Amino acid sequence: MSKQYPYFISLDEAVSICNEYQIKRSTETISISNALSRVLATSVIAKVDDPGFDNSSMDGFAVLHADTLKVPAKLTIVGVSNAGTKEQPCIEKGEALRIMTGGPMPSGADSIIPIELCTIEGDEVILQEPSKPNYVRKKGENFTQQQELFPAGTIMSPEKISLCAAAGISEITVYKKLKIAVISTGDELKNLGDELTFGQIYESNSYGLKSLIEMYGHEATRFPYVIDDIKLLREALDDAAKNFDCIITSGGVSMGDRDFVRIIMEQEGEIKFWRVKMRPGSPPIFGLWNGTPIFGLPGNPVSSHVVFRAIVGKWLTASTNTSDYNSKYISATLSEDIKTQSGFTTFRRVELFEKSGITYARLKGHQGSGNIAGIAQSDGLTVILPDEKGRKGDVCKILLL
Ligand code: AMP
Ligand code: MG
Repeated sequence: MSKQYPYFISLDEAVSICNEYQIKRSTETISISNALSRVLATSVIAKVDDPGFDNSSMDGFAVLHADTLKVPAKLTIVGVSNAGTKEQPCIEKGEALRIMTGGPMPSGADSIIPIELCTIEGDEVILQEPSKPNYVRKKGENFTQQQELFPAGTIMSPEKISLCAAAGISEITVYKKLKIAVISTGDELKNLGDELTFGQIYESNSYGLKSLIEMYGHEATRFPYVIDDIKLLREALDDAAKNFDCIITSGGVSMGDRDFVRIIMEQEGEIKFWRVKMRPGSPPIFGLWNGTPIFGLPGNPVSSHVVFRAIVGKWLTASTNTSDYNSKYISATLSEDIKTQSGFTTFRRVELFEKSGITYARLKGHQGSGNIAGIAQSDGLTVILPDEKGRKGDVCKILLL
Protein backbone atom coordinates (compact mmCIF):
# COMPACT_ATOMS: atom_id res chain seq x y z
CA MET A 1 0.00 0.00 0.00
CA SER A 2 1.56 3.35 -0.91
CA LYS A 3 0.83 6.26 1.41
CA GLN A 4 2.00 9.87 1.55
CA TYR A 5 2.81 9.44 5.23
CA PRO A 6 4.79 6.93 7.30
CA TYR A 7 2.69 3.79 7.46
CA PHE A 8 2.95 0.82 9.83
CA ILE A 9 6.11 2.06 11.51
CA SER A 10 8.04 0.97 14.61
CA LEU A 11 7.03 2.27 18.01
CA ASP A 12 10.28 4.23 18.30
CA GLU A 13 9.62 5.97 15.00
CA ALA A 14 6.06 6.75 16.08
CA VAL A 15 7.26 8.35 19.33
CA SER A 16 9.89 10.42 17.57
CA ILE A 17 7.43 11.66 14.92
CA CYS A 18 5.01 12.77 17.65
CA ASN A 19 7.85 14.58 19.38
CA GLU A 20 8.36 16.76 16.30
CA TYR A 21 4.95 18.27 17.11
CA GLN A 22 5.51 19.37 20.69
CA ILE A 23 3.45 22.20 22.13
CA LYS A 24 5.32 25.13 23.66
CA ARG A 25 4.42 25.11 27.33
CA SER A 26 3.81 28.30 29.30
CA THR A 27 4.36 28.41 33.05
CA GLU A 28 2.51 29.51 36.17
CA THR A 29 3.25 29.86 39.87
CA ILE A 30 1.10 27.71 42.17
CA SER A 31 0.80 26.82 45.84
CA ILE A 32 2.50 23.60 46.86
CA SER A 33 -0.91 22.55 48.24
CA ASN A 34 -2.07 21.98 44.67
CA ALA A 35 1.15 20.70 43.21
CA LEU A 36 0.65 16.93 42.94
CA SER A 37 1.86 15.61 39.55
CA ARG A 38 2.80 19.09 38.32
CA VAL A 39 6.11 19.54 36.52
CA LEU A 40 8.65 22.10 37.72
CA ALA A 41 9.54 24.75 35.17
CA THR A 42 12.32 26.17 37.35
CA SER A 43 14.53 24.56 39.92
CA VAL A 44 13.61 24.68 43.60
CA ILE A 45 16.14 26.19 46.01
CA ALA A 46 16.00 25.64 49.78
CA LYS A 47 15.27 28.73 51.85
CA VAL A 48 16.52 27.29 55.14
CA ASP A 49 18.87 24.67 56.54
CA ASP A 50 17.35 21.34 57.53
CA PRO A 51 17.67 20.76 60.40
CA GLY A 52 17.96 24.42 61.29
CA PHE A 53 19.80 23.51 64.55
CA ASP A 54 21.41 20.42 66.07
CA ASN A 55 18.68 18.36 67.74
CA SER A 56 18.00 14.94 69.18
CA SER A 57 16.55 12.02 67.20
CA MET A 58 15.68 10.20 70.44
CA ASP A 59 13.94 10.76 73.72
CA GLY A 60 16.71 10.55 76.31
CA PHE A 61 19.49 12.60 77.84
CA ALA A 62 21.97 14.92 76.15
CA VAL A 63 25.41 14.37 77.63
CA LEU A 64 29.11 14.80 77.01
CA HIS A 65 30.35 11.53 75.59
CA ALA A 66 33.58 11.72 77.61
CA ASP A 67 31.46 11.70 80.81
CA THR A 68 29.91 8.33 79.89
CA LEU A 69 32.99 6.28 79.06
CA LYS A 70 33.29 4.87 82.55
CA VAL A 71 30.01 3.12 83.43
CA PRO A 72 27.98 3.20 85.50
CA ALA A 73 28.14 7.00 85.16
CA LYS A 74 26.18 9.36 87.40
CA LEU A 75 25.29 12.78 85.97
CA THR A 76 23.30 15.69 87.41
CA ILE A 77 20.08 16.54 85.55
CA VAL A 78 20.06 20.30 84.91
CA GLY A 79 16.88 20.82 82.88
CA VAL A 80 14.96 19.77 79.83
CA SER A 81 14.98 20.45 76.07
CA ASN A 82 11.63 19.90 74.35
CA ALA A 83 10.81 20.13 70.65
CA GLY A 84 10.04 23.84 70.38
CA THR A 85 12.30 24.96 73.25
CA LYS A 86 12.98 28.57 72.39
CA GLU A 87 16.47 29.13 73.74
CA GLN A 88 19.65 27.18 73.25
CA PRO A 89 20.16 25.19 76.49
CA CYS A 90 23.61 24.32 77.85
CA ILE A 91 25.30 21.79 80.10
CA GLU A 92 28.67 21.53 81.73
CA LYS A 93 30.93 18.62 82.48
CA GLY A 94 29.23 16.08 84.79
CA GLU A 95 25.73 17.26 83.79
CA ALA A 96 22.92 15.82 81.67
CA LEU A 97 19.87 17.45 80.08
CA ARG A 98 16.58 15.58 79.62
CA ILE A 99 15.84 15.88 75.87
CA MET A 100 12.87 14.94 73.67
CA THR A 101 12.92 14.02 69.97
CA GLY A 102 13.42 17.25 68.03
CA GLY A 103 14.59 19.15 71.11
CA PRO A 104 17.63 21.44 70.50
CA MET A 105 20.98 19.99 71.57
CA PRO A 106 22.44 21.90 74.50
CA SER A 107 25.84 23.48 74.01
CA GLY A 108 28.42 21.46 75.90
CA ALA A 109 26.78 18.14 74.92
CA ASP A 110 27.85 16.00 71.97
CA SER A 111 25.72 12.87 72.24
CA ILE A 112 22.46 11.32 73.36
CA ILE A 113 21.68 8.38 75.54
CA PRO A 114 18.18 6.94 74.92
CA ILE A 115 15.79 7.08 77.87
CA GLU A 116 15.45 3.24 77.90
CA LEU A 117 19.09 3.00 78.96
CA CYS A 118 18.80 5.48 81.84
CA THR A 119 17.84 5.15 85.48
CA ILE A 120 16.70 8.35 87.15
CA GLU A 121 17.33 8.80 90.85
CA GLY A 122 16.16 12.17 92.14
CA ASP A 123 18.05 14.84 90.20
CA GLU A 124 20.59 12.35 88.91
CA VAL A 125 20.66 10.00 85.95
CA ILE A 126 22.65 6.77 86.01
CA LEU A 127 23.93 5.39 82.71
CA GLN A 128 24.89 1.76 82.19
CA GLU A 129 26.53 2.29 78.82
CA PRO A 130 28.30 5.07 76.91
CA SER A 131 26.27 7.59 74.88
CA LYS A 132 26.20 7.65 71.07
CA PRO A 133 26.84 10.61 68.79
CA ASN A 134 24.63 9.26 65.99
CA TYR A 135 21.41 10.23 67.76
CA VAL A 136 22.22 13.87 67.07
CA ARG A 137 20.72 15.36 63.90
CA LYS A 138 23.25 17.94 62.78
CA LYS A 139 22.28 21.38 61.49
CA GLY A 140 22.08 21.29 57.68
CA GLU A 141 22.71 17.55 57.37
CA ASN A 142 19.60 16.99 55.20
CA PHE A 143 20.01 20.08 53.06
CA THR A 144 21.32 23.60 53.37
CA GLN A 145 20.00 27.04 52.54
CA GLN A 146 20.47 27.84 48.80
CA GLN A 147 20.90 24.17 47.91
CA GLU A 148 19.07 23.06 44.75
CA LEU A 149 16.50 20.51 45.87
CA PHE A 150 15.01 19.66 42.46
CA PRO A 151 15.88 20.64 38.90
CA ALA A 152 13.33 21.85 36.35
CA GLY A 153 11.47 18.90 34.86
CA THR A 154 10.84 17.22 38.22
CA ILE A 155 7.33 15.85 38.69
CA MET A 156 5.96 16.72 42.10
CA SER A 157 5.19 13.71 44.28
CA PRO A 158 3.77 13.78 47.83
CA GLU A 159 7.29 13.37 49.27
CA LYS A 160 8.71 16.19 47.18
CA ILE A 161 5.83 18.47 48.17
CA SER A 162 6.61 17.84 51.86
CA LEU A 163 10.27 18.56 51.18
CA CYS A 164 9.35 21.94 49.62
CA ALA A 165 7.40 22.84 52.75
CA ALA A 166 10.28 21.74 55.00
CA ALA A 167 12.55 24.00 52.97
CA GLY A 168 10.26 27.01 53.48
CA ILE A 169 8.90 27.04 49.94
CA SER A 170 5.19 27.74 49.63
CA GLU A 171 4.97 28.33 45.87
CA ILE A 172 6.60 26.74 42.87
CA THR A 173 6.72 27.56 39.17
CA VAL A 174 5.33 24.79 37.02
CA TYR A 175 4.36 24.21 33.42
CA LYS A 176 0.70 24.93 32.73
CA LYS A 177 -1.36 21.82 32.24
CA LEU A 178 -2.23 20.95 28.70
CA LYS A 179 -5.96 21.02 28.00
CA ILE A 180 -6.81 17.79 26.28
CA ALA A 181 -10.10 16.86 24.63
CA VAL A 182 -11.16 13.21 24.76
CA ILE A 183 -13.61 12.17 22.06
CA SER A 184 -14.97 8.64 21.80
CA THR A 185 -16.54 7.55 18.55
CA GLY A 186 -18.84 4.69 17.61
CA ASP A 187 -22.46 3.86 16.79
CA GLU A 188 -22.50 1.16 19.44
CA LEU A 189 -21.72 3.46 22.36
CA LYS A 190 -24.09 4.35 25.18
CA ASN A 191 -23.65 6.57 28.21
CA LEU A 192 -23.54 5.12 31.70
CA GLY A 193 -27.03 5.19 33.16
CA ASP A 194 -28.69 4.53 29.81
CA GLU A 195 -30.29 1.19 29.06
CA LEU A 196 -28.25 -1.01 26.73
CA THR A 197 -30.16 -2.53 23.84
CA PHE A 198 -28.88 -5.31 21.59
CA GLY A 199 -25.49 -4.53 20.04
CA GLN A 200 -24.70 -1.64 22.36
CA ILE A 201 -21.92 -1.21 24.94
CA TYR A 202 -21.12 1.32 27.61
CA GLU A 203 -18.68 3.97 26.45
CA SER A 204 -15.76 3.23 28.76
CA ASN A 205 -12.56 4.35 27.06
CA SER A 206 -12.97 8.06 27.74
CA TYR A 207 -12.99 7.47 31.50
CA GLY A 208 -9.70 5.58 31.47
CA LEU A 209 -8.13 8.06 29.06
CA LYS A 210 -9.22 11.00 31.21
CA SER A 211 -7.63 9.33 34.23
CA LEU A 212 -4.42 8.66 32.33
CA ILE A 213 -4.26 12.30 31.25
CA GLU A 214 -4.75 13.41 34.85
CA MET A 215 -2.17 10.92 36.06
CA TYR A 216 0.29 12.63 33.74
CA GLY A 217 -0.58 16.00 35.30
CA HIS A 218 -2.85 17.43 32.60
CA GLU A 219 -6.47 18.47 32.27
CA ALA A 220 -8.91 16.28 30.39
CA THR A 221 -12.37 17.10 29.10
CA ARG A 222 -14.61 14.24 28.00
CA PHE A 223 -16.68 15.24 25.00
CA PRO A 224 -20.06 13.59 24.46
CA TYR A 225 -19.32 10.54 22.33
CA VAL A 226 -19.78 10.98 18.59
CA ILE A 227 -21.65 8.43 16.51
CA ASP A 228 -20.09 7.20 13.26
CA ASP A 229 -21.04 10.25 11.25
CA ILE A 230 -18.48 12.33 9.41
CA LYS A 231 -20.30 15.64 9.81
CA LEU A 232 -20.75 15.26 13.57
CA LEU A 233 -17.16 14.11 13.89
CA ARG A 234 -15.93 17.16 11.95
CA GLU A 235 -17.92 19.44 14.26
CA ALA A 236 -16.45 17.81 17.36
CA LEU A 237 -12.89 17.96 16.00
CA ASP A 238 -13.27 21.62 14.95
CA ASP A 239 -14.56 22.51 18.41
CA ALA A 240 -11.77 20.55 20.13
CA ALA A 241 -9.03 22.02 17.93
CA LYS A 242 -10.26 25.54 18.66
CA ASN A 243 -10.52 25.18 22.42
CA PHE A 244 -7.93 22.56 23.41
CA ASP A 245 -4.19 22.00 23.11
CA CYS A 246 -4.50 18.42 21.95
CA ILE A 247 -7.17 15.95 20.87
CA ILE A 248 -7.38 12.28 21.78
CA THR A 249 -10.00 10.23 20.00
CA SER A 250 -10.93 6.60 20.54
CA GLY A 251 -12.27 4.27 17.88
CA GLY A 252 -12.60 4.52 14.14
CA VAL A 253 -8.95 4.35 13.09
CA SER A 254 -8.75 0.87 11.55
CA MET A 255 -9.30 -0.29 7.98
CA GLY A 256 -13.10 -0.53 8.13
CA ASP A 257 -15.55 1.40 5.94
CA ARG A 258 -16.95 3.07 9.02
CA ASP A 259 -13.64 4.02 10.63
CA PHE A 260 -14.38 7.70 10.28
CA VAL A 261 -11.54 9.16 12.31
CA ARG A 262 -9.09 7.65 9.87
CA ILE A 263 -11.27 8.56 6.87
CA ILE A 264 -11.70 12.20 7.90
CA MET A 265 -7.99 12.51 8.67
CA GLU A 266 -7.18 11.16 5.20
CA GLN A 267 -9.59 13.55 3.54
CA GLU A 268 -9.28 16.70 5.61
CA GLY A 269 -6.55 16.36 8.26
CA GLU A 270 -2.77 16.10 8.15
CA ILE A 271 -1.67 12.55 8.92
CA LYS A 272 1.88 12.24 10.28
CA PHE A 273 1.69 8.47 10.62
CA TRP A 274 -0.85 5.69 10.66
CA ARG A 275 -0.43 2.23 12.16
CA VAL A 276 2.37 1.15 14.47
CA LYS A 277 4.11 -2.18 14.88
CA MET A 278 2.89 -2.91 18.37
CA ARG A 279 0.69 -5.59 19.92
CA PRO A 280 -1.90 -4.79 21.00
CA GLY A 281 -2.74 -1.41 19.54
CA SER A 282 -1.48 -1.38 15.96
CA PRO A 283 -4.10 0.96 14.40
CA PRO A 284 -3.22 4.39 15.91
CA ILE A 285 -3.11 7.47 13.76
CA PHE A 286 -1.33 10.70 14.60
CA GLY A 287 -1.51 14.05 12.90
CA LEU A 288 -2.84 17.57 13.04
CA TRP A 289 -6.41 18.79 12.85
CA ASN A 290 -6.46 22.51 12.06
CA GLY A 291 -2.91 22.62 13.45
CA THR A 292 -3.77 20.86 16.72
CA PRO A 293 -2.06 17.52 17.49
CA ILE A 294 -4.53 14.65 17.35
CA PHE A 295 -3.90 11.13 18.58
CA GLY A 296 -6.43 8.72 17.10
CA LEU A 297 -6.40 5.74 19.45
CA PRO A 298 -7.99 2.39 18.66
CA GLY A 299 -11.40 1.71 20.18
CA ASN A 300 -10.47 -1.63 21.66
CA PRO A 301 -10.28 -0.78 25.34
CA VAL A 302 -6.94 -2.46 26.09
CA SER A 303 -5.40 -0.95 22.97
CA SER A 304 -6.50 2.54 23.95
CA HIS A 305 -4.72 2.21 27.32
CA VAL A 306 -1.60 0.62 25.88
CA VAL A 307 -1.26 3.16 23.06
CA PHE A 308 -1.72 6.00 25.52
CA ARG A 309 1.09 4.72 27.72
CA ALA A 310 3.38 3.78 24.84
CA ILE A 311 2.93 6.90 22.68
CA VAL A 312 0.81 9.70 24.16
CA GLY A 313 2.44 9.49 27.60
CA LYS A 314 5.90 9.70 26.04
CA TRP A 315 4.84 12.77 24.07
CA LEU A 316 3.42 14.41 27.20
CA THR A 317 6.55 13.87 29.27
CA ALA A 318 8.89 14.92 26.47
CA SER A 319 7.16 18.31 26.28
CA THR A 320 8.64 19.25 29.66
CA ASN A 321 11.89 17.29 29.41
CA THR A 322 10.57 15.17 32.20
CA SER A 323 11.91 11.72 32.75
CA ASP A 324 8.97 9.43 32.07
CA TYR A 325 8.40 8.73 35.74
CA ASN A 326 4.75 7.96 35.23
CA SER A 327 5.93 4.82 33.55
CA LYS A 328 7.71 2.78 36.17
CA TYR A 329 9.59 -0.22 34.87
CA ILE A 330 11.08 -3.28 36.52
CA SER A 331 12.88 -6.31 35.12
CA ALA A 332 11.28 -9.72 35.54
CA THR A 333 12.01 -13.22 34.29
CA LEU A 334 9.34 -14.68 32.03
CA SER A 335 7.95 -17.88 33.56
CA GLU A 336 6.46 -18.96 30.24
CA ASP A 337 6.84 -18.27 26.51
CA ILE A 338 5.04 -15.14 25.36
CA LYS A 339 3.65 -14.80 21.87
CA THR A 340 5.55 -12.13 19.97
CA GLN A 341 5.86 -11.01 16.39
CA SER A 342 9.22 -10.12 14.92
CA GLY A 343 9.49 -6.36 14.37
CA PHE A 344 6.70 -5.59 16.83
CA THR A 345 6.82 -4.27 20.40
CA THR A 346 4.70 -6.63 22.48
CA PHE A 347 2.72 -5.49 25.50
CA ARG A 348 1.21 -8.57 27.13
CA ARG A 349 -0.67 -8.35 30.37
CA VAL A 350 1.19 -10.08 33.18
CA GLU A 351 1.15 -10.65 36.90
CA LEU A 352 4.33 -10.68 38.94
CA PHE A 353 5.35 -13.24 41.55
CA GLU A 354 8.48 -14.05 43.53
CA LYS A 355 10.20 -17.38 43.87
CA SER A 356 13.59 -17.93 45.52
CA GLY A 357 14.25 -14.20 45.47
CA ILE A 358 13.60 -13.86 41.71
CA THR A 359 10.76 -11.75 40.30
CA TYR A 360 8.85 -13.60 37.59
CA ALA A 361 6.12 -12.48 35.20
CA ARG A 362 3.38 -14.74 33.87
CA LEU A 363 0.48 -13.99 31.58
CA LYS A 364 -2.59 -12.81 33.40
CA GLY A 365 -6.11 -13.14 32.11
CA HIS A 366 -7.39 -13.14 28.58
CA GLN A 367 -5.01 -11.30 26.26
CA GLY A 368 -7.63 -10.02 23.80
CA SER A 369 -7.38 -6.30 23.12
CA GLY A 370 -11.09 -5.95 23.74
CA ASN A 371 -10.87 -7.35 27.26
CA ILE A 372 -10.51 -4.50 29.72
CA ALA A 373 -10.90 -6.96 32.63
CA GLY A 374 -7.58 -8.58 31.66
CA ILE A 375 -5.55 -5.36 31.88
CA ALA A 376 -7.42 -4.17 34.95
CA GLN A 377 -6.34 -7.34 36.83
CA SER A 378 -2.71 -7.22 35.70
CA ASP A 379 0.34 -5.91 37.52
CA GLY A 380 2.06 -4.80 34.36
CA LEU A 381 2.69 -4.99 30.64
CA THR A 382 5.66 -6.71 29.05
CA VAL A 383 7.76 -4.44 26.88
CA ILE A 384 9.23 -7.01 24.51
CA LEU A 385 11.30 -5.19 21.91
CA PRO A 386 11.00 -5.85 18.17
CA ASP A 387 14.12 -8.03 18.09
CA GLU A 388 13.34 -9.99 21.27
CA LYS A 389 11.58 -13.34 21.38
CA GLY A 390 9.81 -13.36 24.76
CA ARG A 391 10.92 -16.87 25.68
CA LYS A 392 10.53 -18.56 29.04
CA GLY A 393 13.56 -17.59 31.17
CA ASP A 394 14.23 -14.32 29.31
CA VAL A 395 14.60 -11.23 31.46
CA CYS A 396 11.96 -8.80 30.29
CA LYS A 397 11.20 -5.14 30.91
CA ILE A 398 7.81 -4.74 32.58
CA LEU A 399 5.84 -1.51 32.59
CA LEU A 400 4.07 -1.41 35.95
CA LEU A 401 0.39 -0.49 35.82
P1 AMP B 1 -13.10 0.58 16.56
O1 AMP B 1 -11.70 0.97 16.89
O2 AMP B 1 -14.01 1.74 16.41
O3 AMP B 1 -13.13 -0.35 15.39
O4 AMP B 1 -13.62 -0.24 17.79
C1 AMP B 1 -12.99 -1.45 18.16
C2 AMP B 1 -13.69 -2.09 19.32
O5 AMP B 1 -13.62 -1.24 20.46
C3 AMP B 1 -15.17 -2.36 19.10
O6 AMP B 1 -15.50 -3.61 19.68
C4 AMP B 1 -15.84 -1.22 19.83
O7 AMP B 1 -17.13 -1.55 20.24
C5 AMP B 1 -14.92 -0.97 20.97
N1 AMP B 1 -14.98 0.44 21.41
C6 AMP B 1 -14.85 1.49 20.58
N2 AMP B 1 -14.95 2.65 21.27
C7 AMP B 1 -15.14 2.30 22.56
C8 AMP B 1 -15.29 3.05 23.77
N3 AMP B 1 -15.29 4.38 23.76
N4 AMP B 1 -15.47 2.38 24.92
C9 AMP B 1 -15.45 1.03 24.92
N5 AMP B 1 -15.28 0.27 23.82
C10 AMP B 1 -15.14 0.88 22.66
MG1 MG C 1 -15.83 2.11 15.68
